[in-house]
Amino acid sequence: MTDSIDVAATPDSLSKIRIVLVNTSHPGNIGGAARAIKNMGMAKLYLVAPKEWPSDKAVWRASNAADVLEDAVVVDTLDEAIADCGLVIGTSARERRIPWPLVTPRECGERAVAESSQHEIAIVFGREDRGLTNEELHKCNYHVHIPSNPDYSSLNLATAVQVLCYEMRMSHLIASQDGQPIHYDDWDQPPAKSEAMERYYVHLQETLEKLNFLEPGNPRQTMTRLRRLYGRVRLDEMELSIMRGILTASQNYVFHTDKKIAELEAKLEQLEK
Ligand code: SAH
Repeated sequence: MTDSIDVAATPDSLSKIRIVLVNTSHPGNIGGAARAIKNMGMAKLYLVAPKEWPSDKAVWRASNAADVLEDAVVVDTLDEAIADCGLVIGTSARERRIPWPLVTPRECGERAVAESSQHEIAIVFGREDRGLTNEELHKCNYHVHIPSNPDYSSLNLATAVQVLCYEMRMSHLIASQDGQPIHYDDWDQPPAKSEAMERYYVHLQETLEKLNFLEPGNPRQTMTRLRRLYGRVRLDEMELSIMRGILTASQNYVFHTDKKIAELEAKLEQLEK
């Protein structure tokens, strides 16, 4: 651990943490989530393509948290909801095929509060019936699972929001009460934002195809595993720009080598004539 940054929980540290609800079916759950968010001193709600919106049922369930609903940001895709975030944590009610770095709800709260003075943070929740898709989960740095009854593991959506917001509030209170800065020892540069990482994955896949490492258009599980690798490492902005430079240099090298081979082949053909 070389460079480190000490970060004190600021009074507004919770305001940098957004709750993202993906494709919610029941507006009542959106209202319940808004109430949970406001009860815990948080405010930011993002809705990705909600099935029914706006909705009186949501306002009714929100009770006195209708202001959270009014300020909710509604977007079409998860990418838009997390584009500017430096930390994205996805919730999951069950095990997935390619397991991701998993944190407990407590660690989720600690990490989110610790990083909140540095960048925007998203906690992402899935659909009532199917949760988050694998593709959506693969856009997250970490997954968090509420350790519920393994035989009956899935909580109601708004209840799951409540549990995780409570953990964030507890971390925030502990950090502000004892005045101890939360030690934040991973970077000396800001971590790359989600949007920049998405662009990087496109560049990476394209380069790996040009190098014939991946079959064009058929990345199979390799890209998923690479996403997990990068998600675990969490590149900072400087490292990301170095990696982009390496990809560009590799592509240029392949391009020039291909060109040289084509020229030599043309020459050979001339000689053979
Ligand atoms: N049948 C779905 C469950 C969806 S529950 C599935 O198998 O994935 C709706 C949402 O509530 C989930 O997407 C998640 O965001 C949250 N949730 C429910 N139970 C959870 C748990 N035990 N841990 C973390 N999140 C949970």
